[in-house]
Amino acid sequence: MKLAMFKPGREKSRPGILWKEKIADLNAACLSLEKQRSEGKTEFLWEDLIDFLEEGERAERRARLALAAFEKGSLDRGPLAKGRSKIFFDPAKVRLLAPLSKPPKILCLARNYVSHVQEVTGSVARPPDPLLFMKPTTAIIGPDDAIVVPPFCRKLDHEVELAVVIGRPGRFIPEDAAMNHVAGYTILNDVSDRDYTGKKDSHRLINWFFMKGQDTFAPMGPCLVLKDEISDPHKLRLRLWVNGQLRQDSEGEKMIFKIPQILSRVSQFVTLKPGDIVSTGTPVGTSFSTKQYLKAGDVVECEIEGIGRLRNVVRVEEAVYRNV
Ligand code: MG
Repeated sequence: MKLAMFKPGREKSRPGILWKEKIADLNAACLSLEKQRSEGKTEFLWEDLIDFLEEGERAERRARLALAAFEKGSLDRGPLAKGRSKIFFDPAKVRLLAPLSKPPKILCLARNYVSHVQEVTGSVARPPDPLLFMKPTTAIIGPDDAIVVPPFCRKLDHEVELAVVIGRPGRFIPEDAAMNHVAGYTILNDVSDRDYTGKKDSHRLINWFFMKGQDTFAPMGPCLVLKDEISDPHKLRLRLWVNGQLRQDSEGEKMIFKIPQILSRVSQFVTLKPGDIVSTGTPVGTSFSTKQYLKAGDVVECEIEGIGRLRNVVRVEEAVYRNV
């Protein structure tokens, strides 16, 4: 099942199910079905997919019943038919948003593909422990939103990554239970400003926050694919194009630290919560080694098999005071 956040016109944003060529309003579909099935007068509203994930298995069961009704065409018949038009939308006529706009945490792994380790360090030595940093939620943008950078950003880079979305909360999670805490997956572009990689810094520090934490530096989407649709998340093909030119392609390459290892290790330090994002690193082909840094007007497209394609355009903003 593919879930997404969308906004029809000026109406409120809401969670949806991507089904065939349509997007269905998840609340509207579940409400009309549950009323029809006389399962009580439950009035619920999932404001977003974090609400949905927090409800756990019950929410997923409800969504699956809605999906089954779409497949059977039961919304096309009887009393449900009159509400049908309020359930299904044409994706071309709504705005798709990032599937999670306010996750409790965005954790990102650095150097989790050998090919990328080599391009940034010149060596194939693997990190002994997962190397992590965080992005603030102000970095998140959705499909077709602009990556907006200040005029002094000179070395803008791209990193296509598989992002794990946490479903069930946990602390000190053992590796063999870690996948039970995964809800699904999305795409994250770990946008980076390579001026802050620290190479010329006499303190020899990487300024992770300036490099990775800027506004709009976490394009995410187009949807959240629940984990049952992805048989092995470690060997999905990741690709990234700039203006139609293929720059990154992970075919055949696997992650250094696998998802259970990452989640187990991370949860020794922090509680994982529903909606948390754990991005699993990028393969070779970043601008860091190609020196083809992104510039205004560039179109960046990330694709992961089984999830979809995420497109964003680069824009430069004026560095002027805004009292927002
Ligand atoms: Mg990265």
